Amino acid sequence: MKDCIFCKIINGEIPCYKIYEDDFVLAFLDISNDAYGHTLVVPKKHYETIMTCDNSTLAKVMQVVKKIGNHYIDNCGFDGVNILNNNGEAANQSVKHLHIHIIPRKKDDKMIVSNFFCGKVLSSDAKNLTICPFEEGGNLEEICQTLKISDTQDVVLDGQNAVVLYSDGACSGNPGAGGWATILSYKGKEKVLSGGEKETTNNRMELMAVIQGLESIKSNLPVQVFSDSAYVVNAFEKKWLEFWRSNNWKTASKGEVQNKDLWQRLLALTEKLDVKFNKVKGHSDNVYNNRCDALAREEIAKLQN
Ligand code: 5GP
Ligand code: ZN
Repeated sequence: MKDCIFCKIINGEIPCYKIYEDDFVLAFLDISNDAYGHTLVVPKKHYETIMTCDNSTLAKVMQVVKKIGNHYIDNCGFDGVNILNNNGEAANQSVKHLHIHIIPRKKDDKMIVSNFFCGKVLSSDAKNLTICPFEEGGNLEEICQTLKISDTQDVVLDGQNAVVLYSDGACSGNPGAGGWATILSYKGKEKVLSGGEKETTNNRMELMAVIQGLESIKSNLPVQVFSDSAYVVNAFEKKWLEFWRSNNWKTASKGEVQNKDLWQRLLALTEKLDVKFNKVKGHSDNVYNNRCDALAREEIAKLQN
């Protein structure tokens, strides 16, 4: 929304110290710097209050609040968090874009946290009412470096009018029997594909998972691919593929590019479709990556029986 300060932050028109970001939600440090790590979590779409926000977006915002709260407690040395939210002027909401405040707390930090005073510039005679006494000051940039969640592990399922494609490949022995699987989703509908090959490699199965997924897409919608394979993601993100192609499918050290057949097949698909590659951590807490992994392994088991 025009003239909304948080929309401007979301659009990158105003800088912020980013703690976390995904397709729907942004978390950044509060400019008031009144308590170490005072964080704001906002939906990327403009909603004024919790009451006017749609349930699915609100759930995403609260999931990020939970994720950051856990992160501050598990990884950043805090013992608790205050989670605050103001709705409407009467309730002291000063920025009319839904936001949740997270205030990290330490045992015995002696802070008194209140919705009313958080983030407000306090007049001098109100000093003894300071609710978030943050006496050390603190450099927001350094605080941000310390607290931010860099490795986004979130499951993205509804890619803002894009098809979301999770993929994984597995191999028993390398080379050996291999399996691949892909889960595509669009507006709540899911398509699951998997397959296997008797004699293959892990990288070939990672590539095959994405190829089969992309080949099954019948629309021109943009596609967000989520893979745990650095081999696949870096080839696009780090432009290895462009280099290989311009170098007549030779590597920088003049060797043959491995899996050229599959790379060419994948390249043709990415020229036809608008595809963005995203790296996810494998064998972690991403349920879709884990489901793909399990399906790929089932395919291997089928070949071995
Ligand atoms: P509210 O009073 O609406 O619950 O909280 C609004 C919060 O937004 C305040 O804590 C205030 O410090 C913060 N804020 C206002 N403008 C900016 C800004 O430009 N950048 C950041 N990071 N925070 C802001
Ligand atoms: Zn806004």
